[in-house]
Amino acid sequence: MNFRIGHGYDIHRTIPGRPLVLGGVTFDCDFGLDGHSDADCLTHAICDALLGAAALPDIGHFFPNTDARWKNADSQVLLEHVVAALRERGWRPANIDASLIAERPKIAPRLTEMKAALAKSTGLSIDAIGLKATTNEGSDDIGRGLAIAAHAVALIERV
Ligand code: MG
Repeated sequence: MNFRIGHGYDIHRTIPGRPLVLGGVTFDCDFGLDGHSDADCLTHAICDALLGAAALPDIGHFFPNTDARWKNADSQVLLEHVVAALRERGWRPANIDASLIAERPKIAPRLTEMKAALAKSTGLSIDAIGLKATTNEGSDDIGRGLAIAAHAVALIERV
């Protein structure tokens, strides 16, 4: 088998007084996301999609929130670790597609920057990274701005 597919999902609650980091890009915003690392749920969903494709345990196994090393960690560094873990096992990312669900702020103007950050961390070209942003139309906690979530799928291929 030369290709494998994986899926990832993550959600973090919004809180005031933290930088909002999504896909490796910091947004000018009056809230951030609660979490042990920088709480970049988009990058976490992508990490889990890549790990899942390789049938490896999830991001919490590799970067436990009890480990001080990952306190406020840049999730792009976590993603680089994930890609390295795949490479050790003979896999590399082939393409990624992800959807971010956030009521605020406006994501679309920063999508190109986010793709560039994710391309750098994964070693993929920008045209191998799909990224969309949507809202939850005001429904549930995401729609009320209490949380931001992300879904991702990833294809990996044998090196
Ligand atoms: Mg997370």
